[in-house]
Amino acid sequence: MGSVQIVTTILAAAITAVAVWLAVRAVLKMVAVIRLGQPAPERFSDKVARARTMLVETAGHTRMLKWGVVGAAHWFVMVGFVVLSLLVLEAYFEVVTPTGGLPIIGHWTIFGLATEIITMLGLVGILVLMAIRLRNRPTRPGGRSRFTGSTMWQGYFVEWIVLLVLIFGLLIRGFKVATDHFEYPLWATPVSHAVGAVLPDWSDGASVAALIKIAISMTWLIVISLNVTMGVAWHRFLAFPNIFFKREPAKPAGSGLGALRPMTSQGKPLDFEEADPEKDQFGVAHVEQFSWKGLLDFSTCTECGRCQSQCPAWNTGKPLSPKLLVLSLRDHAYAKAPYLLAGGGKDLTGEEKATQAQLAHLDVLALAEADKPLIGTAEEGGVIDPDVLWSCTTCGACVEQCPVDIEHVDHIVDMRRYQVLIESSFPSEAGVMLRNLENKGNPWGAPQNTREDWTKGLDFEVPRVGEVDDFEYLFWVGCAGAFEDRAKKTTRAVATLLNEAGVKFAILGEGETCSGDPARRIGNEFVFQMLAQQNVETLNEAFDGREKAKRKIVATCPHCFNTLGNEYGQLGGEFEVVHHTQLLAHLVATGKLTPVQPVDGGVTYHDPCYLGRHNRVFAAPREVLGDAIAGDLTEMPRNSERSFCCGAGGARMWMEEKIGKRINVDRVEEAMATGAKTVAVGCPFCSTMLSDGVNGKGAGEQVEVIDVASVLLRSVKPEQPQGGKETAPIGG
Ligand code: SF4
Ligand code: SF4
Repeated sequence: MGSVQIVTTILAAAITAVAVWLAVRAVLKMVAVIRLGQPAPERFSDKVARARTMLVETAGHTRMLKWGVVGAAHWFVMVGFVVLSLLVLEAYFEVVTPTGGLPIIGHWTIFGLATEIITMLGLVGILVLMAIRLRNRPTRPGGRSRFTGSTMWQGYFVEWIVLLVLIFGLLIRGFKVATDHFEYPLWATPVSHAVGAVLPDWSDGASVAALIKIAISMTWLIVISLNVTMGVAWHRFLAFPNIFFKREPAKPAGSGLGALRPMTSQGKPLDFEEADPEKDQFGVAHVEQFSWKGLLDFSTCTECGRCQSQCPAWNTGKPLSPKLLVLSLRDHAYAKAPYLLAGGGKDLTGEEKATQAQLAHLDVLALAEADKPLIGTAEEGGVIDPDVLWSCTTCGACVEQCPVDIEHVDHIVDMRRYQVLIESSFPSEAGVMLRNLENKGNPWGAPQNTREDWTKGLDFEVPRVGEVDDFEYLFWVGCAGAFEDRAKKTTRAVATLLNEAGVKFAILGEGETCSGDPARRIGNEFVFQMLAQQNVETLNEAFDGREKAKRKIVATCPHCFNTLGNEYGQLGGEFEVVHHTQLLAHLVATGKLTPVQPVDGGVTYHDPCYLGRHNRVFAAPREVLGDAIAGDLTEMPRNSERSFCCGAGGARMWMEEKIGKRINVDRVEEAMATGAKTVAVGCPFCSTMLSDGVNGKGAGEQVEVIDVASVLLRSVKPEQPQGGKETAPIGG
């Protein structure tokens, strides 16, 4: 070992020792913070599916590749990080001797070839990512980007480190070539040979370059260890467990949504017949009341801003950005952690758990952080502003886009639950809706005995469950379908089409109440459980004696469709639920319904969030329209998984939209820009929001918003007025 190698070896060992010590400390700290969360035993189920999903999503980059170029570039950088870590390891042999290499594989030509290719792809990948970050920097002329609010220096730092590590890897090889100590042939490592051709014949060059490469890598490790909230770097490790422990691991990639998680206390679902607010946790009032998976979510955020770029609230000037929400919760959790780890925290009656002695030596900043209300205005020092919390439509675009499977919607609803159930703090307009649900069983407060009014004037009898036993489908009409004028036309159209196709169906009539979706999304789990239990009981009775495959329900409202199909199972109700567009597509495909007159004038389709993103029903409504209209469907730029919300989900239907541009107006502008004369929808709330948007633009005469079923009815029975014999709106 020469004198240069003695120095390079000592320096490499010293910086590595410091970096490893700091990294171990950082990991222990991170684990301690995540363990502060509540139990989540369900996250350990189905380990095979979890492992498979994790491998598919990471190795296949299934989320990232939806973003084309950036996904491919990130994949090369990820593979580069994993494989080229071996070359960092090899650098430790090279600081000791400039001709050193990894034992065994370090002499294989195949290893030389693979690392050469990955180095080049990694270089291209990182340069592309750097260019994309620069092009989208928030300070660029032209306004906000997905990186607005991200900690930009951290992104630049990580990218430069990757670039420099790759460059110094090539320099090490180049010096070996220049000194004639390189084992790999020219054909396998042409770039290394080209670099070597321009480097001097410096015998210590490889050792010095290896030291610099190690120093760069360890600087990265030191910086991220001193910044445990640096998700842009830590996600390289945390993304794996975060995806492994995701909700619904067995569902296809991209469908992390569907059922909302039940309200839990100490990891157990709460039943309101036994729950006690003095003993059980109702929603989330403090950051440590999120589950450990929630705290892992916050730690894993890469600050990429994909969620933000798709969020309807953010895109219409509301203060909510799912990314910024996650970052606020992350920063708060880590800043409050010293207080919690010292034994601090409030019990369920609001009393401090720690003794004065336990808190005596705490940092004043941690104590100040502990005093912050989780939900509160800037004046109150709140972590999350109420306007942020209540702007969410639960559309799921954020969850759909997040490459590391962060579950924003569950966290938002958990915080809403505490606000509604314990603080009674929510937008006052929604109070009427909640009272109506409790007292009348529907959000409009319509009399229960008018639930069947939509059947009046139909030229066939609509049977009720109990009057007939041999029905194949129970037609779940829904509150909008029963009481709201526009939605009633859809209900009539569906009933007419089912009757035309000879499908045996029956309705519950006055036995039906609200599915509970708006109560659950606003955070009132108590009212949800009350309504849901009643409905489950009614439905179980209606299907008494039938196996699950024959407990078929068809629903026109995607919110009911989602709640009945995905959430009633949490309360003992197992049913086969289809959306009416799925059933209609089947009836057309099997020849039971025959479109005879194509509807023309240009048609576009708006994907309802709870049908599309939450339940992956994208094809059926398009198939129905494809059969019923003249020409091709005109898609809006934001369609299918990337559809833009109408603004009504998450109980926003019953709240005023006071901040920014109206979401429905934004969507209507996009629909009208296609030039289509018909905007087809598959949801009564979308129908209301988009109709209001069209009318607000004064385009009610030129553009019509109608349900897919009504489009089909026009094509199947062109002689019949839409929705039945009555053309005038039906009063609610
Ligand atoms: S669910 Fe939709 S509205 Fe809510 S934060 Fe996510 S993207 Fe925004
Ligand atoms: S929450 Fe997910 S999508 Fe949003 S910034 Fe973080 S990592 Fe990106």
